Amino acid sequence: MRDIVAPESARWQAFTRIFGHNAAAAGYQLLIPPLMEDLGVFTRIGEATDVVTKEMYDFTDKGGRRVALRPEFTAGVCRAYAELRPLTPWKVWYSGSNFRYEKPQRGRYRQFDQVGVEVLGSDDAYVDVEVIALAWDFYRQLGLQQVTLVINSLGEPADRAAYVEALRQHFEAAGTTLSEQSRETLLKNPLRVLDSKRGEDAGSVESAPTISEFWSPEAGEHFATVQSGLTDLGIPFTLNQRLVRGLDYYRRTTFEFQGGTLDSAQNALGGGGRYDGLVESLGGPPTPGIGFSLGVDRTLLACSDEGVFSAPELAVQVFVVDTTGGREAMAITHELRRAGITADRAYDNRSMKAQMKAADRSGAQLAVIVGTDEQTAAAAMIRPMRGGEQFRVERNELVEQLRSQLTGHQ
Ligand code: AMP
Repeated sequence: MRDIVAPESARWQAFTRIFGHNAAAAGYQLLIPPLMEDLGVFTRIGEATDVVTKEMYDFTDKGGRRVALRPEFTAGVCRAYAELRPLTPWKVWYSGSNFRYEKPQRGRYRQFDQVGVEVLGSDDAYVDVEVIALAWDFYRQLGLQQVTLVINSLGEPADRAAYVEALRQHFEAAGTTLSEQSRETLLKNPLRVLDSKRGEDAGSVESAPTISEFWSPEAGEHFATVQSGLTDLGIPFTLNQRLVRGLDYYRRTTFEFQGGTLDSAQNALGGGGRYDGLVESLGGPPTPGIGFSLGVDRTLLACSDEGVFSAPELAVQVFVVDTTGGREAMAITHELRRAGITADRAYDNRSMKAQMKAADRSGAQLAVIVGTDEQTAAAAMIRPMRGGEQFRVERNELVEQLRSQLTGHQ
């Protein structure tokens, strides 16, 4: 787990703010679900996924309840829907930390953040398009050029079940030519064998049946509408029949955004898809849903690699230097902040030289300087920090004068 410190923390905050702004502008409401849920909420997302079986931070609380820190958002959102029964379509966005006990490495952490959206209560293929477009445009807005969109359809639950059975037979026939890990995965979840990157599995994975052979006409039609919608919006994508994604509840559309700069094991910047039966299994009515989660940590790494979306400017506008004891600085910074001018100051009544050094470091455009002369005359000096003559102003005209000097200030 990591500390996110400035200036990275400012970039992090800007990332979330822009995402939230976009989502709200598209009619999504912010949902802040609890960080911890009943363990059962997460075990329903897939008994055969590593996220649930190996990576969960679960424990018994003081009341004897089995609980877990969330490893992802979707299950908690569906639990909230089942509990609150809001009007549909329920369009929500969220941001925050998840926890998975994984092997930490670049792009993979035990505490990581996601932003995302979910839409509950609509089966409309154009919702799939809207959701994918929201993520795509966000990546574009960040400036990322090397992100690609990969899509697939897992068909209806019955199509998926038939496909899983066909895969089971296919991989069982491969027998001991499969790696030991894949043989183990096969027992739990044949779909996951498709993810294997091991050399000895390559042939069997290559010759495995593809999901499109199992699509029902409805599933095929739904997916065709999604694709034509993406094309209409000018969003490029590639089809990958091997894209099955981790969690068990996906059906129909699944998608992933892949970065161009990270190792292949960590190149998924975000992903999502349709899910079925999840709300129902959490005690709600049968409800279709679709959403995505984007990894904040990993997407910011990709931004650094591509040299885009740098940290926003952290500097204050004005730095107040007071060599008369600090009381003037206290009053002036307070007045400026109330007036909407960002301001900082030096403490501990340090020397003029030390305070000017601090003013320089702060990156402020202007310094306000109060010495004994200015104090006596109820005045202050304004010194432009990036060149230009300093000048004296009346104390009661200070805010006005600063406003007129500050560039970019409303
Ligand atoms: P998933 O829920 O596994 O599909 O993950 C969605 C996104 O969250 C991924 O594409 C990653 O960007 C991010 N993510 C998942 N697990 C981690 C992790 N351990 N560390 C950092 N980011 C992660």
